[in-house]
Amino acid sequence: MPTLRYAGRDLAVQQGESVLDCLLRHDIAISHSCKAGACQSCLVKGSEGPVSEVSQRGLKDTLRAQGYFLACSHRPNADITVSPVGTEARTQAQITGRSLLNESVLRVRLRPEAPFSYFAGQFVSLFREDGLARSYSLASLPNDQEIELHVRRVMGGAMSEWLHQHAITSTSVWLQGPSGNCFYVPGNTEEPLVLVGAGTGLAPLYGIVKDALLQGHTGPIWLFHGALNPTGLYLTSELRELAEAHSNFHYIRSVLRDADPGEFEVGPLEQCLLAKIPKFAGWKGYVCGDPALVNSIRKKLFLAGMASKSIYADSFVPSAPSASCNSPSTPITP
Ligand SMILES: Cc1cc2nc3c(=O)[nH]c(=O)nc-3n(C[C@H](O)[C@H](O)[C@H](O)COP(=O)(O)OP(=O)(O)OC[C@H]3O[C@@H](n4cnc5c(N)ncnc54)[C@H](O)[C@@H]3O)c2cc1C
Repeated sequence: MPTLRYAGRDLAVQQGESVLDCLLRHDIAISHSCKAGACQSCLVKGSEGPVSEVSQRGLKDTLRAQGYFLACSHRPNADITVSPVGTEARTQAQITGRSLLNESVLRVRLRPEAPFSYFAGQFVSLFREDGLARSYSLASLPNDQEIELHVRRVMGGAMSEWLHQHAITSTSVWLQGPSGNCFYVPGNTEEPLVLVGAGTGLAPLYGIVKDALLQGHTGPIWLFHGALNPTGLYLTSELRELAEAHSNFHYIRSVLRDADPGEFEVGPLEQCLLAKIPKFAGWKGYVCGDPALVNSIRKKLFLAGMASKSIYADSFVPSAPSASCNSPSTPITP
């Protein structure tokens, strides 16, 4: 009889029983609805043990790659460890480096004190010692020694101002996650990829581009990075070098104003995107950054033929006002 390990409990699975039914039989509350693999409300994450193909049917490839499956559709015939979504432990990390990438974007390097696995392009919740937390995207690669974040300074912003002005090398923070589905999934090396972001929307895209190239992606990869003016762009030399080294990688800098049209694409990012690539049928897209821009680009990609399941997006939605530094927060305990 297989064992289902859930939240530290070992549960015996009956012959032919689904993970969901086993949890419910043991009075464990878990969200569910259709029990037929359609509504996806019983999504859980498997960390050890095989997961059936049918229980991952209809899930995005990025969810499948992380071991997510539908509890109603998996009937274990081997031991399995399962956790609910969004209950990752926090890992302590030390700030090991801070340097400006342009006048408002800070590169923050962190060294976690325990192994921290992630896919390039996912995001983490960064917790300060007093419990203040914000999400930041991962610009580094999983095998890099340090985690890299790009933090834009928001005037009056509790976390970003603190990181820019007060945090120092050796300051301790905590990381929770990773989360998000914006990352490269190997297996379809010839698929054309387009990545679009403005400002620090580049952070996850930078990680995804490096990862795709490292994993031998041979299809075209187009990166569009937008900013108001040229000073808002960053990592331009690194990206140009990458484009010189890989003939399938194309790096487009798009600015709204104050630029020489010979050197930059001048005009709205969406316009620049569609001028370069009018049709996106068969493409995969990654869009990150400002929520309004992300929504607009998603629509444009869809209308230009990209399947909605092929669009991966992270909107950098600001935290609710109650999440400010003056609000009562839970101090972190390691
Ligand atoms: C999935 C995800 C990934 C993210 N990745 C990144 C990243 O890689 N890099 C990065 O710099 N940020 C990223 N963010 C945004 C980040 O989480 C914070 O919201 C941001 O750093 C501001 O936090 P703060 O504490 O400094 O400002 P807060 O104290 O939260 O806000 C201060 C004031 O500024 C306003 N404000 C906050 N953000 C903005 C904004 N973008 N534009 C206009 N007004 C704003 C608030 O409404 C508030 O009035 C991400 C957000 C999400 C949800």
